[in-house]
Amino acid sequence: MIEYLIHDEWNIIEEGFKPEHHRSSESIFSLGNGKMGQRANFEETYTGPTLQGSYVAGIYYPDKTRVGWWKNGYPEYFAKVLNSPNWIGIDVQIDGHFLDLYTCKTENFRRVLNMQEGYLLREFTAIMDDGKKVAVVAKRFLSMADTEVGAIRYSVTPLNFEGKISFTPYLDGDVENEDSNYDEKFWNLLEMEAHPGEAYLVTETKKLGFRAGFGMMVKTFIQGVEISIKPEILKKEAWVGNRFEKVIKEGEQFTIEKIAGVTSSLNYSKNDILVATKKSTKAGFDKGFDKLFEAHKNEWKQKWIHSDIKIEGDIAAQQGIRFNIFHLNQTYTGEDERLNVGPKGFTGEKYGGSTYWDTEAYCIPFFVSTAPSNVTRNLLIYRYKQLDKAIENAGKLGFKDGAALYPMVTMNGEECHNEWEITFEEIHRNGAIAFAIHNYIRHTNDFKYLEEYGLEVLIGISRFWSQRVNWSGEKKKYVMLGVTGPNEYENNINNNWYTNKMATWCMKYTSEAIEIVKKNNIDAFNQIVDKTKFKTEEETAKWKDIVDKMYFPFNEELNVFMQQDGYMDKEHILVKDLDPKQRPINQHWSWDRILRSCYIKQADTLQGIYVLEEQFDLETIKRNFEFYEPRTVHESSLSPCVHSILAAKIGMIDKAYEMYLRTSRLDIDDYNHEAHEGLHITSMAGTWMSVVEGFGGKRVYDGKLYLNPVIPGQWKKYAFRITFMNNDLEVIVSKEKVAVASHSNNPVEMYLYNQLIKVEPQQTVEINVG
Ligand code: BGC
Repeated sequence: MIEYLIHDEWNIIEEGFKPEHHRSSESIFSLGNGKMGQRANFEETYTGPTLQGSYVAGIYYPDKTRVGWWKNGYPEYFAKVLNSPNWIGIDVQIDGHFLDLYTCKTENFRRVLNMQEGYLLREFTAIMDDGKKVAVVAKRFLSMADTEVGAIRYSVTPLNFEGKISFTPYLDGDVENEDSNYDEKFWNLLEMEAHPGEAYLVTETKKLGFRAGFGMMVKTFIQGVEISIKPEILKKEAWVGNRFEKVIKEGEQFTIEKIAGVTSSLNYSKNDILVATKKSTKAGFDKGFDKLFEAHKNEWKQKWIHSDIKIEGDIAAQQGIRFNIFHLNQTYTGEDERLNVGPKGFTGEKYGGSTYWDTEAYCIPFFVSTAPSNVTRNLLIYRYKQLDKAIENAGKLGFKDGAALYPMVTMNGEECHNEWEITFEEIHRNGAIAFAIHNYIRHTNDFKYLEEYGLEVLIGISRFWSQRVNWSGEKKKYVMLGVTGPNEYENNINNNWYTNKMATWCMKYTSEAIEIVKKNNIDAFNQIVDKTKFKTEEETAKWKDIVDKMYFPFNEELNVFMQQDGYMDKEHILVKDLDPKQRPINQHWSWDRILRSCYIKQADTLQGIYVLEEQFDLETIKRNFEFYEPRTVHESSLSPCVHSILAAKIGMIDKAYEMYLRTSRLDIDDYNHEAHEGLHITSMAGTWMSVVEGFGGKRVYDGKLYLNPVIPGQWKKYAFRITFMNNDLEVIVSKEKVAVASHSNNPVEMYLYNQLIKVEPQQTVEINVG
């Protein structure tokens, strides 16, 4: 744990510049607006350790896979999120010397991520080698309102001298990815232009031909008054800029405003990129920094109204939860069904920016309750659009007749993981994708979704499961062999309880969905039957047979579900008895030793109990929790939140709180020493789940909302906002009472502590719990 950031309710604050934390801060203070993202790299030159990261949503690179022994079925490539041309750069020279925080001294350094209004602020005094001091203030944001625009206001004030200060705003297309497999650069320059006060670059990826355009227009000011300086036009290979130099008096503030426009071939035809970039840049420039900021701030205000969680009496928890909500909202805004949420979002290269099951299992529960329903719908449509590829993918592996296996890691529907043994066998992702459809519908009643998209996906997935199981003559049951469950510390196991459970759930739910669509719209159903060549009776009968006769490992003596066949053959030493110096085990043990051990990387059986909780009574949940939690090392960030929710459910509030803290401040306090690689964006949704589903006890069964709030001892009060069936509700929990306030125009019926209540429009229902 590295605690160098100051606790504050709405801001992340770093005081005093510490180069050793800089790469982590670059992740933590990242900005994004759904269409693009930017690590908190400095605008000015920085020669110390840094990970340059500027990302344009939807652009990726299929980097050739590195593998020793090629086997049929391996993906050809591992997709990489691309570090794109740098549009933030502003070199600063003080009497001819570059300002570089790695080489000069700093005083009063303060970096602030203002999460309420969505901007990054840096203030410091730099002391140059020759003793000259300058005060610097830099503010930037990536507009949530004008989503092709980023804006920077950068000021320098000489404190103890009069001298020449220069600003060189530039665009740099000569960039690289740190994780490039063969040290290649991924971009070609297509066009480059510079004029006084403006410049443009158009680049194209070397494979797949994605194009991106970057533009900048700048203004300069002295003491807040715009001044005109004739710039020197600069051009290098794939680099273009303007240099503005001026003699500045002691105490005078010299400012540059750089408005950047960023566009891509996702949204414009390839030949129009330059024109579109100029248009966006000019539109942003004409509005100007302040007006752009006002509109941006208003967008954030709206987002916070619907997704904020307020916690009183625990500032660390308050900051932690807002940090998570802030990053989720700036990673995915839901307008574009071609985009998704990478495990690191726009904050680093790890996981290639690809889509994982994380989206369905973690992010959808967050978005379905905090954003308009089209946001989740678009995430679901993303998978619908990739159904053909999922069928193709299953075909490559020997499945037939429209069986669909979604990839574990993807950009465009093709599988592109780079770890065969672990990732490939995690076929459980198919279950999460199907479950997300159900989760969306039970929150929205959007049954139309099933007709239009969902049912086809469900049929493809159920067909896969029905072919993936086989009949065991010995067990007289269906079994599923050679899989990896969510717990990646077991590979190629038989009968992973979670996977078997999700598979049968999918087949059952698909059969129910068929009946719903048939009833609601028989024409739509017939069309689906034609399109998918669905043999309704035969296939559903097969599914039913599997559902009825599926094998689930179970230990009679312990009375708990078994994660997989043979789990009890392992040596069982509990995590608490492990030498702390050996942890995390993935950094200290050989893979062989990990695989042989009983240690569970992340919720697996408990993941299944969490997802299908209504099938289990409290005693069963308790027994399984008490068995699995002491064996779980939580070496995936996706794990503690699930344990936290179940702990709250079974009344272990302290345990729930302990688990919650691990997720909520995971990146701010850099628990796993990996914030420098980027943030755990998808697990941030798990943090939200720990509060709303864990402490808040929010559940939706059969289209009905249930709340069973508890409050951790450390908190005075907390409040969250949820959208349910298009109604906007606020839940306020204190030690004495629970209130549910409606911000809607329709009455809402729901269960509070299992009592049916009706919340009238714009009214509040309160009950005492003290
Ligand atoms: C987890 C997976 C997850 C992936 C991306 C891995 O460490 O074990 O469940 O999908 O990270 O977040």
